[in-house]
Amino acid sequence: MKINKNFLDLEASYLFSTVNKKTREFIAAHPEADVIKLSIGDVTKPLCPAVIEAMHKAVDEMADEKTFRGYPPEQGYDFIREKILEWDYTKRGINLQLDEIFLSDGAKSDCGNIGDIFATDNTVAICDPVYPVYIDTNIMNGRKDKIIILPCSAETNFLPAIPGAGDSVPDIIYLCFPNNPTGTVASKEYLKKWVDYANAHHSLILFDSVYEAFITDGKYPKSIYEIEGAKSCAIELRSFSKTAGFTGLRCGYTVVPHDLVFDGTELNTLWFRRQSTKFNGVSYVTQRAAEAVYSEEGQKEIQENLSFYRENARIIFEGVTAAGFKAFGGQYSPYVWLQIPQGFTSWTFFDELLEKCNVVGTPGSGFGKMGEGYLRLTGFGSRERTIEAVERIKKAFGKK
Ligand code: PLP
Repeated sequence: MKINKNFLDLEASYLFSTVNKKTREFIAAHPEADVIKLSIGDVTKPLCPAVIEAMHKAVDEMADEKTFRGYPPEQGYDFIREKILEWDYTKRGINLQLDEIFLSDGAKSDCGNIGDIFATDNTVAICDPVYPVYIDTNIMNGRKDKIIILPCSAETNFLPAIPGAGDSVPDIIYLCFPNNPTGTVASKEYLKKWVDYANAHHSLILFDSVYEAFITDGKYPKSIYEIEGAKSCAIELRSFSKTAGFTGLRCGYTVVPHDLVFDGTELNTLWFRRQSTKFNGVSYVTQRAAEAVYSEEGQKEIQENLSFYRENARIIFEGVTAAGFKAFGGQYSPYVWLQIPQGFTSWTFFDELLEKCNVVGTPGSGFGKMGEGYLRLTGFGSRERTIEAVERIKKAFGKK
C-alpha cells in the first residue's frame, strides 16, 4: 500500500497552533495578564431565536414516525433551495435554476471537494495572502506545480492584477471578496474584467463569497452572478457560517450554472455525480435551521448580529488608525488588516502586541509570503473586550 504522496508536499500549517501556543505560554508566564483575543475567525454570538425555534420543531418531527425523515436529497431539500434561490438571487435580479444550487456542510468542504471534478494538470491562480484551503487542497490533488500565485499588495488595495498578454493563462482562478484575510472588497467594474478574461480564455472562476453578508449598502456585488457573463465562467461558494453563525452547525451551498461547459461537459452534471457519490446531504434539522434564516424574523435577527460584528470591526479600524497605524478592510468585512511598523516582522509584532497590550492578533505571514508585514485583527469578539483592546493599542502605540 502506498500513500498519496501529494500530502507530503503540503507545508505544515503552524499558524493557529503557534498563535495558540504562544498565547498559552504568555498566559502561563504572566498569570495576572488579562489577554484579549482579536485573532479568532469564528463567530461568538449564538444562533438567532428564529433558527433555534426551527431546529426545535425539526427535532420534534424527527421524533415522530409520521414526520421522521431519513436520508435527505443529495442536493438539499427543495424547501431550502427554493428560499436560497428566491432571497439570495431572484430578489436581487439574478436568474438561476433550482438544480444549479447544491446544499452542503459548508464552504470549506466545497472549496476542497470541487477540485475532484477538474483535471490534475490544470493551472490554478491563487491570491497571496489567502485563505490557505485553496492552496492546500490543490496540492493534495497533485497540482503543486500548477499553482500560479497572484500577489496582492497595498498598492492595488489587495486586488490581484489580471494576467496580461505574455502571462501564462490560468485554467482555474480563485477569487474571494470580501476577502479573508485583507478585508478588501471588489467592485463590479473590477470583477467584470475577471469575468471577461475568464470567458475569453475559457478559464473557470471559483468565487468565494462567504463574507457577502458584510456588504449592506449595495455599493459592491454580493454575488459574481451580478456580473454579466459570469454564468458561463464562474462557480460561487456561499456559507451560513459568517452570515448566520452556523460555524458549529455546518451549512453552505455552491452554485454551478448549467452554462458552465468545459470539454463538452456540463460541470453541473459532474458536480452532481461527485456529490451524490461522496456526500449524503445535510441533516434535516440543519436544513430547517437554514430555511429559518430566510424569514422576516430570521433576517432581522441575523442582521443584528452582523451589525454588531461590523461595528466591532469599525471600532478596531478607527482605533488602530487613530493610534497611527495604516489599516485596510474593516468596513465590508469582519477583518482589519493592519500594516505593522517598520522594524517588525508579522511574528515579532505579534509578540510586541501580546507583551505591550496583552492583545492577540494573527500574523499576516501565516496567509502567504505577501502577508508578511501585516497582522489580522477580527471583529468577532465582544464589544467590551474589543473597545478595551483598542484602548490599549492606542495607549501603547499612539503618539504621546
Ligand atoms: N472561505 C473563506 C474565505 C473563509 O474564511 C472560510 C472560513 O473562515 C470558509 C470559506 C469556510 O466556511 P465554512 O464555515 O462554510 O466551511
